[in-house]
Amino acid sequence: MKFGFAFRKSLGSRALPAAIDPMKNAILPQLVIVGSIGIDTIETPREKHVEILGGSVSYACAAASFFVKTGMVGVVGTDFPPEHRALWEKMGIDLSGLQTEEGKTFRWSGVYEENMDNRRTLLTELNVFERFTPELPESYRNAPYLFLGNIAPELQLHVLEQVHSPKFVLIDTMDLWINIARDKLVEVVGKCDMLTLNESEARLFTGVHSLTDAAEALLSMGPKFVLIKKGASGSMLFSKEGVFLLHAFPLADFKDPTGAGDTFAGGLMGALAEFGKTDEKSIRRAMLYGSVTAAFGVEEFSLERLAALDRKQIDARSNMLKSMCCID
Ligand code: AMP
Repeated sequence: MKFGFAFRKSLGSRALPAAIDPMKNAILPQLVIVGSIGIDTIETPREKHVEILGGSVSYACAAASFFVKTGMVGVVGTDFPPEHRALWEKMGIDLSGLQTEEGKTFRWSGVYEENMDNRRTLLTELNVFERFTPELPESYRNAPYLFLGNIAPELQLHVLEQVHSPKFVLIDTMDLWINIARDKLVEVVGKCDMLTLNESEARLFTGVHSLTDAAEALLSMGPKFVLIKKGASGSMLFSKEGVFLLHAFPLADFKDPTGAGDTFAGGLMGALAEFGKTDEKSIRRAMLYGSVTAAFGVEEFSLERLAALDRKQIDARSNMLKSMCCID
């Protein structure tokens, strides 16, 4: 990938709601995100991009950075290209939680079928990610909002032990952990405010086909909210109070859906942290922001589109999506 990105111009002047660290005079992250950082090779029916920036925390932090000061927790190897780090810095992401370990960065490669819905993994090389133990710098431990991306539930629990009473914790997971670490996953789900997963994972986790029944079973494990992602069909928010349905922003064309779920969750958590609220109405509004941020992200590979985006474009598209969903 070329790095002639049109970097977001407004970043330096963006007024983000934030606490100040009196010792360093630095803005403390209001949102902390933990997850994978990958160097991806992605093939679609039209294009192939080799060794581009990816990983759940990379997409999620990029999306959240439009809304609040966001701290990244992840690991890269000594081979990690400095231009990727520079891109995150340009986006205003706090990198004090980024670890660099001797060795190679996590590599992942996938190929999309003609319909762009189905994806096959060609290669997963864990490299330094295999020994990843998330450690939060002191400046992250009071952050009110926490998003634990898709990593081993044991590591998600390890992060929860380090934070001081966060206001809202979102966790993501995948079929791998449902299959091999179910008990630990149930434990971490019991400690979070919201669980997000896709529809097939919700069915796998609960053993029931109906998404309503699956959501009910997941809510009974402890979280106040369950957010089921349905790709281009949108998402469903379940709580004790009811169900909220949001369709994805309709796009005429897109290039690469990799990381869309992470971008969605990152945008949602960023918006929620900006609102400073955690009630159901605020979550619904934040879903709108997450959804449009993800729709921008898939228009290009890697973080290319997000790097060229500004908040005005996000707000304009959010208003469009809102008017598409409303009857009155
Ligand atoms: P998604 O499209 O939501 O599945 O996210 C894709 C991103 O997840 C890619 O950028 C990969 O670098 C990263 N990824 C792929 N496999 C894994 C894995 N086993 N653990 C963590 N991250 C992964």
